[in-house]
Amino acid sequence: MTVLITGGAGFIGSHTCVEFIAAGHDVVIYDNFENSNPIAVERIAAITGKTVPCVTGDIRDQPHLEAVLQDYNCQAVVHFAGLKAVGESAVKPLAYYENNVQGSLALLKAMQSCGIYKFIFSSSATVYGTPEFLPYTEDHPLQAMNPYGRTKLMIEDMLRDLYASDPKWSIAILRYFNPVGAHESGLIGEDPQGIPNNLMPFITQVATGRREKLSIFGGDYETRDGTGVRDYIHVVDLAQGHLAAYDFLKIPGCTAINLGTGQGQSVLEVVGAFEHMSNQKVPYEIVPRRAGDLPEFYAQTDFAQKTLGWRAKKDLREMCKDTWNWASKNPQGYEN
Ligand code: NAD
Ligand code: UDP
Repeated sequence: MTVLITGGAGFIGSHTCVEFIAAGHDVVIYDNFENSNPIAVERIAAITGKTVPCVTGDIRDQPHLEAVLQDYNCQAVVHFAGLKAVGESAVKPLAYYENNVQGSLALLKAMQSCGIYKFIFSSSATVYGTPEFLPYTEDHPLQAMNPYGRTKLMIEDMLRDLYASDPKWSIAILRYFNPVGAHESGLIGEDPQGIPNNLMPFITQVATGRREKLSIFGGDYETRDGTGVRDYIHVVDLAQGHLAAYDFLKIPGCTAINLGTGQGQSVLEVVGAFEHMSNQKVPYEIVPRRAGDLPEFYAQTDFAQKTLGWRAKKDLREMCKDTWNWASKNPQGYEN
């Protein structure tokens, strides 16, 4: 039984491949390498001791997807492929709608025509929008606030409509909070192109000397130290959440599930934990707030525990330790 992993060479996809292979599943990666490096596929093989089939292709190419799903006798799809930068999505909305929405549509049509009905989708906490209450539960109202978030919400709606039309489908919509960290081997990790948008890769690049200092976006939020609060989750915990969701797909349905730790951490707390675990200084300055940022959000995780029997185990110190292990061994990412 083979699982097609779209975007399997990327940050979360590569860690998920490792966990699926370790659990005895056959996987095939499908990636166009728009935001990843083929070296990641070699590293997955090095960690697992298994050759990993990898097809270079684009999720918008339905005929190619159908051929791959049939050639590898796939029974399920874990769908990571897509564009993910919030700021860029406001500048290039059509690229986001085309890649994320049209790509997911082509993928689902390919699955339907091949008779494959098990699907795990990478959604995001961004679909909740401004918190009406915290922690966000899965039934919190949905309201995306930027083009990236709207693509995620459109795909979620498409999946709910699809299941309503045909109860053969088993769909898990996983809403990730803030994935960070790296595999403990230091062989795979996050390798953003250009200037990182996210906090942890930026801190890492300051610690390795690639950037001079961190800009902390806002020190005047109504949070415990004035800086923004997020629910950071170790990428290996997140990957294991997908494995739990895969077992859950035995039952037809379309279910949205938060994957977070349930704990909020401020930017200054992340900087402090990173400095402690890496023994490096992370110079920073507090600058004005970033447009569109929410002050604070974190997950209610009871539903994941109840439905998947899964919960995140690794704390912020492990997230920082493993991030630093990866970054210090690969200061230029995969292009060392
Ligand atoms: P990533 O960019 O590292 O991985 C995405 C992968 O998809 C890359 O390997 C890229 O080359 C590939 N890809 C992109 N467009 C493609 C296409 N048209 N055809 C084939 N392959 C394509 O991103 P990630 O951080 O691993 O995120 C994976 C998924 O999780 C994304 O859908 C993202 O929106 C979602 N997500 C990520 C975060 C986060 O903070 N990292 C948070 C919430 C949700
Ligand atoms: N952040 C920051 N400096 C950066 C990047 C992020 O201060 O260079 C802050 C940001 O304002 C937010 C938190 O770190 O409070 C997490 O930001 P990230 O972009 O990683 O995740 P998201 O905002 O999408 O949850």
